[in-house]
Amino acid sequence: VATRFLARMGGNPHNTFLDIDSEVTLAQAQASDAKLADGTAGPLEGVPVAHKDVFVTRDFATTAGSKILSGYRSPFDATVVQRLRTAGMVSLGKLNCDEFAMGSANENSAYGPVQNPWDTTRVPGGSSGGSAAAVAAGLAPAATGTDTGGSIRQPASFCGITGIKPTYGRASRYGMIAYASSLDQAGPMARSAEDCALLLSAMCGGDIDRDSTSLDMPSEDFTASLNSSIEGLRIGIPQEFFGEGLSADVRAAVDSALREYEKLGAKLVPISLPRTELSIPVYYIIAPAEASSNLSRFDGVKFGHRAKDYTDLVDMYKKTRAEGFGNEVKRRIMTGAYVLSHGYYDAYYLQAQKIRRMIADDFQNAFKECDVIAGPVAPTVAWKFGDNANDPVADYLADIFTLPASLAGLPGMSVPAGFGAQGMPVGLQLIGNYFKEAQLLNAAHRLQ
Ligand code: GLN
Repeated sequence: VATRFLARMGGNPHNTFLDIDSEVTLAQAQASDAKLADGTAGPLEGVPVAHKDVFVTRDFATTAGSKILSGYRSPFDATVVQRLRTAGMVSLGKLNCDEFAMGSANENSAYGPVQNPWDTTRVPGGSSGGSAAAVAAGLAPAATGTDTGGSIRQPASFCGITGIKPTYGRASRYGMIAYASSLDQAGPMARSAEDCALLLSAMCGGDIDRDSTSLDMPSEDFTASLNSSIEGLRIGIPQEFFGEGLSADVRAAVDSALREYEKLGAKLVPISLPRTELSIPVYYIIAPAEASSNLSRFDGVKFGHRAKDYTDLVDMYKKTRAEGFGNEVKRRIMTGAYVLSHGYYDAYYLQAQKIRRMIADDFQNAFKECDVIAGPVAPTVAWKFGDNANDPVADYLADIFTLPASLAGLPGMSVPAGFGAQGMPVGLQLIGNYFKEAQLLNAAHRLQ
């Protein structure tokens, strides 16, 4: 199986992969063959997987899509990578992504954009665009992604695949290059909810010795309830997700998925998430604030790129970072440093933290009336390359439906709902209460 996928990956279709090593892949596959032969294999044994390039790996280079880490090789594997390997999965290599996972279109990778396999003039979404495109194009049966403000759900939606971001803390962040630590979560991206459930079961579980924010609770078998009836399931429909910003084609596809749920016996309940719009300014204060701190470690001393000509240490820092970081990363570092600075901290950062709490409370109020929440993942289908060029705020605004669940730390997923303009895929977003991943996967599976 691995040989067949390696052949498909030849020539790097859609610019999905940043590093591959067929010897590593084939050695892992052979080890799996032995286990499959002696009958001790679990369901993921020998199944290939590719990893977003923000997970550090011993066997492949790790760049996080940045020039500043070009050629960097980690001395250890991220916990998520290691757990999937322990479950028998065979690594195909590392997948392209937006630099340090900052972006919504994969146009911010230092190694060039990823194409959407459905229409190569369109973006695959971001930041896990390489993961979504690789699965959609059949280059990998499954991939890992990370989601800080929508980076699993939105590319899954744009590429017509399934992806889930679990509850914050379910999966270990150890070895996941930090963007905004209070929001970053790992999750699987695959062709179906069933495949996602298999991967998620292997990925999750406490790791508190190495990630103090991981939850000290065991993983679950997320496949166990996939086929449960959803008769009587109360699906909350947030009115704020269906306002004027939502394009008609996406709305039609989402509506058709909701009709399906009604046929399956679910009840649609109108709800309100009144601070939905505020999630954009709140997120684009908190995430850059954390990023400006996290990215201070890339200074040319310990990792990756170092400027060649410099006069002293400070000059080396400056030149290394000026050369190594792309424009979007620099923009976020500057925004983050600004909102954290003395005199602005109370007005921006502290204010954002308070509203973040209110957004989380809004969800808890909503969950009094419903079991899961459903709506669009993004306001439109995948846009064309260059459509939002020179307008980063246009990309930020398009995150409106994924940011609220991220800020609240809730699990969310994207499941294919149909097709919109120009035949491009549309995802339905399902948001669950804390630790209700099994319920989300059950609802998603019933739609497939
Ligand atoms: N588009 C959002 C951002 O640029 C989300 C990215 C993510 O989830 N990693 O920050």
